Amino acid sequence: MSLSIPLWRKILSQNFTRWETLAPYLGLSESVGIRPKNFPLNLPQRLAAKIEKGNIHDPLFLQFVPQPKELIASPGFQKDPVEDGEFRCTPKLLKKYNNRALLLASGVCAMHCRYCFRQNFDYARHQTPFEKELDYLRRDTSIQEVILSGGDPLSLTDEVLGSLIEAIAAIPHVKKLRFHSRFPMGIPERITPEFISLLRQSRLQTYFVLHCNHPNEFDEEVLQSLRSIRQTGTILLSQSVLLRGINDNLPTLLTLCNLLVDNGILPYYLHQFDQVQGGAHFEVLEEVGIALVTELARHLPGYAVPKYVREIAGEQSKTPCASNTLSMSYKPL
Ligand SMILES: *Cc1c(COP(=O)(O)O)cnc(C)c1O
Ligand code: SF4
Repeated sequence: MSLSIPLWRKILSQNFTRWETLAPYLGLSESVGIRPKNFPLNLPQRLAAKIEKGNIHDPLFLQFVPQPKELIASPGFQKDPVEDGEFRCTPKLLKKYNNRALLLASGVCAMHCRYCFRQNFDYARHQTPFEKELDYLRRDTSIQEVILSGGDPLSLTDEVLGSLIEAIAAIPHVKKLRFHSRFPMGIPERITPEFISLLRQSRLQTYFVLHCNHPNEFDEEVLQSLRSIRQTGTILLSQSVLLRGINDNLPTLLTLCNLLVDNGILPYYLHQFDQVQGGAHFEVLEEVGIALVTELARHLPGYAVPKYVREIAGEQSKTPCASNTLSMSYKPL
């Protein structure tokens, strides 16, 4: 085991976390931002460098910089909008859907996205790592897929991730391992040779679901890190959140979907915004989303069009947002 700090952790430690420092860097007055205590500014240098100076409408500025609008309480907007808390089978394991379980592998992220529906989530930080979760996974033989989510599972070191993956792979009924991560967008250096070999060596079929919302988040190094994941035989998918003023227009979504498929990443989900407290300014009307996705389908091959879905607490899967809801009324005998 190496005692030296990996490069990606050094880069992570250089994130902008103080608005007093970021505001002048962006050429902005301090009054356009705020300093929230419980979900503070956290922005990798790479993403900060992509924000157009002086532009408070920049799609990355809007995603990552805490703004006064967050302080507005809107009726119906909740701390835990998807009611994840109710589906905890252990402190770090959620089982909402059949045959798969979601492990809150880490409460830490490479960046703080202001629209995040888990921003108020009470992560079980001080539990013994994953013992209860692994016990549960071993006992519930219906679970075929384990999803490493969070926070961001890539906040864990390769050593911790390696032993976790090994323990999961030792459970015979588990066939698939999925990562939900946003790390490569901010710190592609996280895709280390060690991580790549974890993916390559695992007996499990691996999936990597990249969280990305805007074409500006990509660059050659980011794409190279994703290519190296794909070369392990891992299936690369994406998920995005439909966000007002950020990606709620056809040219942006088209560019994003084309960029993804041109690089071997299939657009998987486009999420309707979850009504998290302080996030009302991000919400796009579902009718608008449906119109956008319908239009996307007219310009793209079928595999390049993400499923537009929303999370309804208590449902057995993510729920499609569609004007054509005929299939929803079909009840199998
Ligand atoms: C979204 C989600 C999943 C994964 O759902 P898929 O439709 O398989 O992508 C699993 N567990 C929880 C708790 C989720 O929120
Ligand atoms: S990376 Fe994901 S979990 Fe972390 S703040 Fe962003 S949306 Fe939330």
